[in-house]
Amino acid sequence: MLVFRTFKELRAFLKKQVDNGLKIGFVPTMGALHDGHISLISKSIEKCDITLCSIFVNPTQFNDSEDLDRYPRTEVRDIHLLEAVKCDVVFIPSVDEVYPPNYKTPHVELDTLESVMEGALRPGHFTGVMQVVGRFFEQILPDYAFFGEKDYQQLAVIKKMVSHRNFPINIVGCEIQREATGLAMSSRNIRLSNSGLKNAEFLIEQLNWAKKNYELLPNSEIEKRVKAAFLEQNPLELEYFEIADSNNLAPILNKDQPARAFIAAHIEGVRLIDNIDLN
Ligand code: AMP
Repeated sequence: MLVFRTFKELRAFLKKQVDNGLKIGFVPTMGALHDGHISLISKSIEKCDITLCSIFVNPTQFNDSEDLDRYPRTEVRDIHLLEAVKCDVVFIPSVDEVYPPNYKTPHVELDTLESVMEGALRPGHFTGVMQVVGRFFEQILPDYAFFGEKDYQQLAVIKKMVSHRNFPINIVGCEIQREATGLAMSSRNIRLSNSGLKNAEFLIEQLNWAKKNYELLPNSEIEKRVKAAFLEQNPLELEYFEIADSNNLAPILNKDQPARAFIAAHIEGVRLIDNIDLN
C-alpha cells in the first residue's frame, strides 16, 4: 500500500491511474479505524480499480476543543489494517497541508440540514465537514466517494454540497456496521469502559423499540416514551431523539413519508450517535 502525505504526490500518482482509465474510489476517515470504516473500504474495492483512504482528524469540524484533543489517533495500527484489506493508497496529510493560508471554501446553503439535530447542536460542525471534504474532492476528484449511514445527516450534507458545487462524483451511502450487541461501531467506543459499552446498548434498544412501534403509535408518543426511558437510565444522558424525513430530515407530517429515528446521547463523557430506518 502506498502512503502519501502531500496533495502533490497524491495527485501525481492519481493522474497516472486516471490516464490509464482506472476508476478511483475515495473513503475519507478520521482514523482509529474499525470494521465500520473497513466496510466502506471493501465497498470501494468492489466498485473501483483504485481505493484511496484518507486519515485526517479535521480540527475545523470540532466545536469542542477537548473532544478534538481526546480524539483517538492510532496511525500505525490503521496502516496495518488498511494493508490487510488491500487498500491501495492511504493519504495522511498535516493540518497545514490541508489548509494553506487564505484557503476559502465556497458557501453552501444547508437549510434544514443545518438547523436540526447535529446541525443545531454542533454549531459550525457541518461547515467544517464541507470544508475538509470539499478540499479533498477538489484535489482528488474521485469517481466514487463512500460515506456511512452511521452519520446520516453528514451523508445528506455531502450529497447537498456535491450537487451545489457540481462535483462529478458519485456519493455512495453504506449501511451501519454494528457490534454483535447491536451497538453501532464508532472510533469513540474505545473510550468506554466495559460497563459503559453495556449501557450504550440502550441506544439501539430504543431505536429498535421505536421501529417496532412506528406503525402503532403517533410519533410524538414514541418520542415522549423514549425520552422518559432515558430519564430512568443513569448514567446515560440523552441529547436528542427525533423522528425525521429520511430525505431532507424535516419533520414527518404523515406515516407514508420515508422516516428515520435519530439519537444522540452522552455516556462516560463520550458522545454517541445512531439512527435507524423506520419504514
Ligand atoms: P469517521 O472516521 O468517524 O469520520 O468516519 C469515516 C466514515 O466512516 C464516515 O463516512 C462514517 O459515517 C463511516 N462510519 C463510521 N462508523 C461507521 C459504522 N459503524 N458503520 C458504517 N460506516 C461508519
